[in-house]
Amino acid sequence: MDTEAPIREVIEEIKESGGDAVKYCYQCGKCDSVCPWNRVINFSMRKLIREATFGFPEIDREEVWRCTTCGKCPQQCPRDVKQIEDMVALRRIANAYGVTPAFLKPVRSASASLAAEGNPFGEERAKRADWAEGLSVKPFTEGMEILYFPCCFLSYDGQLKKVAQATAGILNQAGVDFGILGAGESCCGESIRKTGHEALFKQLARENIKSFIDHGVKKILVSSPHCYHAFKNDYAGFKVNFEVVHISQYLGELINEGRLKISKEYHKKVTYHDPCYLGRHNGIYDAPRGVLKRIPGLELQEMEESRENSLCCGMGGGRIWIDTKMSDRFSNLRIKEAGGLGAEVLVTACPYCLTALEDSRLGLNYEDVIQVKEITEIIQEVIR
Ligand code: SF4
Ligand code: SF4
Repeated sequence: MDTEAPIREVIEEIKESGGDAVKYCYQCGKCDSVCPWNRVINFSMRKLIREATFGFPEIDREEVWRCTTCGKCPQQCPRDVKQIEDMVALRRIANAYGVTPAFLKPVRSASASLAAEGNPFGEERAKRADWAEGLSVKPFTEGMEILYFPCCFLSYDGQLKKVAQATAGILNQAGVDFGILGAGESCCGESIRKTGHEALFKQLARENIKSFIDHGVKKILVSSPHCYHAFKNDYAGFKVNFEVVHISQYLGELINEGRLKISKEYHKKVTYHDPCYLGRHNGIYDAPRGVLKRIPGLELQEMEESRENSLCCGMGGGRIWIDTKMSDRFSNLRIKEAGGLGAEVLVTACPYCLTALEDSRLGLNYEDVIQVKEITEIIQEVIR
């Protein structure tokens, strides 16, 4: 695209792509004061919104792709400017015009793989259920209590498969009648949508919705807050309504119903990192804390930036595929914050957060200071 396109034309395109709310901004700068990017580099959402208002955003600049969609500035904005929708609108325009700067190469690879195989890793669709080999995990059939939807990261990532495996073990121990779709599962599409690939999101959503309907799925258990957000909020646009439950909620249900018994103590200081898409975007703060508080011996300590004020891990909004310099990662700040609290374990409930926090833990040489775990890993340890 000629990025010096006529101003009026660009304003109309922003409007058509869903970013019309830029016009409400009165340049107070509150967004910049709360944005985590300004803890590591200079970044101005205020400036981007101003440029978009006047129809002159340079959509090939990395700034347009910086926002991690963490949800912090929209909750503070006095004019309801909808910064996330505005940035996604610019990214849609960039995609429509084939704007592909070098830093977006990994996003292009991910989108090609998502279109072909339903996952962003270039892996075969047929291998999607390999994580469950040797475990008692059945294919989902109509009438089962719940569909377990582990997501692409837990299905394919060598470091994260253990979370899907721990989840299956817990469900079996609790006697839950569950199944998986394996190759019948596609990426939920939440993250690729945030990079402006709307048509690809719709393709993935339709594939999943068809698969859910064909298999008679009524209730879906997810490990990823991004899948939760997609099924609960984004798929509602297709006029379908499946019951969705996140693992941090479901564990609490199983414990409360007496189906899951905690038989061991866990004598560690633990702090919980709220994932943006579980907390700020979907208001789930108490469920994971409630589960952790049921574990005898576990000492739960809160970080200053918790619940609505949680610090983003840096991986949302498609940033999971865009390289962020090690020194610029918010997850470094989070590891230091948790370590400074004296916590021995930093627990979370999102595959993106896990990836970012573990990378930072290793990068900062915090191996002897703190462990990073997903909530099911702790539950798995205390139910055997
Ligand atoms: S907080 Fe809202 S009104 Fe203030 S500068 Fe940012 S977008 Fe504009
Ligand atoms: S949503 Fe989060 S990352 Fe994006 S501009 Fe606002 S505060 Fe920054």
